[in-house]
Amino acid sequence: MATVEVRDLRKHFDDTVAVDGIDLASTEGEFLVLLGPSGCGKTTLLRMIAGLETPTSGEIYIADELMNGLPPRARKIAMVFQSYALYPHMTVFRNIAFPLKAEGLDPEQRRDKVEWAARLLDIDRHLDRRPRHLSGGERQRVALARALVREPSIFLLDEPLSNLDAKLRAAARDDLLEFQNRMGITTVYVTHDQVEAMGMGDRIAVMEHGRIRQFGTPDEIYHHPADTFVATFIGSPPMNLLHRSDHLVGFRPESFLPEALNGHDPTRTSFAFQVNRVENLGSDRYLYGTVPGLDEQTKVISRLPSTVSIPIEPQREHQFTVAEDDLKFFDKETGSSIPSRPL
Ligand code: ATP
Repeated sequence: MATVEVRDLRKHFDDTVAVDGIDLASTEGEFLVLLGPSGCGKTTLLRMIAGLETPTSGEIYIADELMNGLPPRARKIAMVFQSYALYPHMTVFRNIAFPLKAEGLDPEQRRDKVEWAARLLDIDRHLDRRPRHLSGGERQRVALARALVREPSIFLLDEPLSNLDAKLRAAARDDLLEFQNRMGITTVYVTHDQVEAMGMGDRIAVMEHGRIRQFGTPDEIYHHPADTFVATFIGSPPMNLLHRSDHLVGFRPESFLPEALNGHDPTRTSFAFQVNRVENLGSDRYLYGTVPGLDEQTKVISRLPSTVSIPIEPQREHQFTVAEDDLKFFDKETGSSIPSRPL
């Protein structure tokens, strides 16, 4: 097992600053997710760790050894991309064996390793098939097996599940996590999907414009966002943000509940909620409206689970509350988290 670390890492492409001074370190066996919107520099960061892109400046360490200048094959990493590029004319066996052949391993050792990886990923019965005769999930596992036979210290995965449909994707996510836990290989995983990041990551680095906005556990990022970017990027629907004089006050849609639910509770803050529209999704009701008296310009959402059956009429004002701990405060200028303020 090994760790990955980057120090003050930068990458400029002419005028574009793709990675703008990133410090990041994994622990051993960690599943570390790089999450952020398109163009924030996730892939460039991963490609620099892999040795496929040369940093403009900064350092990369794998297992505490400086990697700058070393070619990808000297880094003990295995990378799986979004398009896993299996060779269509080769069987699954030959696809998995391909990197071993390139390394000059003899046929017997190759067979042992391919069979070991195929068993681990539960594709051993498909070894004689061609990729086009496999499902998307099975193909993805072949790509993982091909990466695994090289016995990498580090897995680098760039949106490996994005070609799969929603149902297969959920199953493949479970498989991948279970496999990663079993193998204990430190993994850096790129995604723009916050649900995937929250469900899979031991820790998540939330990126924007080539920088890390926050690095923490899913729980820390969701409940204690470092700034308004993280607060609104994570969570669907995103955190509500109301404008006050020099700051913003935030609360999650699921924390914004009818007063009748908790009775009169002095530890909860009361808001008037003008509900304009009610959307019933079966599992939840989404209520869309505004908060008169506090910030009538900003749209606010409440998410009520179907277990809350209190009737809510649209086009009316209702009394809603938020627990004190669930109120978050941010500086209006910088967007950074600040200590609580009186409302
Ligand atoms: P996505 O999720 O869309 O893949 P990303 O977060 O992975 O995005 P990168 O692919 O790392 O982002 O790109 C970061 C920035 O660097 C973008 O503005 C992109 O246009 C730019 N960029 C990436 N590769 C190159 C390149 N080879 N030449 C010039 N600019 C590039």
